[in-house]
Amino acid sequence: ALLAALPAGCGSSAKTADKGTSTGAADNAGALIGVTMPTRASQRWNGDGENVKKELEALGYRVDLQYAEDDIPTQVNQIDAQITKGVRLLIIASIDGTALDSQLQTAADAKIPVIAYDRLILKSPNVDYYATFDNYKVGVQQATSLLIGLKLLNPDGTPGAAKGPFNVELFAGSPDDNNATFFYNGAMSVLQPYLDKGVLKVPSKQTDFKTIAILRWQAREAQNRMENLLTSTYRTGLKVDGVLSPYDGLSIGIVSALRSSGYGTAGQPYPVITGQDAEVTSVKSIIAGEQYSTVFKDYRDLARTSAQMADAIIKGRKPVTNNDKDYDNGVKVVPSMLLDTTIVNRDNYQKALVDSGFYTPAQLR
Ligand code: BGC
Repeated sequence: ALLAALPAGCGSSAKTADKGTSTGAADNAGALIGVTMPTRASQRWNGDGENVKKELEALGYRVDLQYAEDDIPTQVNQIDAQITKGVRLLIIASIDGTALDSQLQTAADAKIPVIAYDRLILKSPNVDYYATFDNYKVGVQQATSLLIGLKLLNPDGTPGAAKGPFNVELFAGSPDDNNATFFYNGAMSVLQPYLDKGVLKVPSKQTDFKTIAILRWQAREAQNRMENLLTSTYRTGLKVDGVLSPYDGLSIGIVSALRSSGYGTAGQPYPVITGQDAEVTSVKSIIAGEQYSTVFKDYRDLARTSAQMADAIIKGRKPVTNNDKDYDNGVKVVPSMLLDTTIVNRDNYQKALVDSGFYTPAQLR
């Protein structure tokens, strides 16, 4: 009977129907949706939370929005509490992609569908859909902008005037965040040929993901690691020419370490430093000529996408996805919707961030 109630064209929504989510429109009005975000410490997650809430409310849902301040037990408790409150669906941006197993089982037993938001939830069959950006491409963009900043490439991708060799250091994100590996693999796909040819050198020799990963994306840890690299490897007058940083928060820490060590003057300019998220502090740093670039992920689009996914699932329709192969969580391939991202530097921040309405000019002053 449930299947019969589904709109046409929902051939593959038997699973959704099994979950008993295709009840009539009246039952759905005002249904409660649980949204959990990792932390308020980073600007992007605040924006994500606000926008997801706004989009869901515009579709007529009520929202329970929680932040876990990067503490796994807190997030676990928040999801437990949301299930107890009777949420109809969960949207989860996880801290540790493997830590939510038992909550997800409880959700599945209660027929509560789950959307992984931005970060894939790993090793659980109980993840229905994934809304994110093209994470591998983010890594490709970060590495490409590093090469453009070093003038090894022109902005159009043709070989640039510089020949190298250049000294670079590499940073990666939190090892418990599946995205961090995607960013790293994407970046290395671009950098490896330059490393192989000796055009890029990593004087610290630290290139392995585990060695360069920064747990929980902590700016302070990135600053410490950069300080250590500067005192160990660069003591003898060697210069850092570039730093691959996967996140603006880390880039801020890296800039601080470099500044304390005498970089940022006419005689010793900052190396080319990348980033991600177009956070306001980093965009200002880019305008000031410290950080070189960032990757802009328009989380207004991600919020809208995940809200539309939630609405479709609840109404028994099949959500729109555009990738059904790249996100294997170890137990299943999770149907995913991947959104596009943009490299931003001093040359295009106005167009990408201000003209698009993401920031007002006053916010960047
Ligand atoms: C997100 C990035 C963010 C990072 C740190 C990742 O999972 O995809 O946008 O920079 O977490 O918060």
